[in-house]
Amino acid sequence: MAFICDQCEKRQGGRAVTTVTGRTVCARCDRDTQSAAAGVMAAESTGGSPVGGAIATMGWRERFRRAVGKK
Ligand SMILES: [Zn+2]
Repeated sequence: MAFICDQCEKRQGGRAVTTVTGRTVCARCDRDTQSAAAGVMAAESTGGSPVGGAIATMGWRERFRRAVGKK
C-alpha cells in the first residue's frame, strides 16, 4: 500500500514503518533514524567507563524494542 514518508516526504510503495513517535516512514528512513538515535545514546554514554557505556546502550536497546513492540 502506498504512503507518504514523513521523513523524506516521498511517495513509497513498500512497507510503512510507524516509529515510536508515531510517524510513518519508509524502511530506509526508519533505519537511518534508529542508527542516529543509537549514535546519540552512545555519545551520551561517553565519559564513564567503557563497560558502563555498553550496559547503558544495551538497556536503551531493550527499552526501544519494547516500545516498538517487536518480538
Ligand atoms: Zn523515507
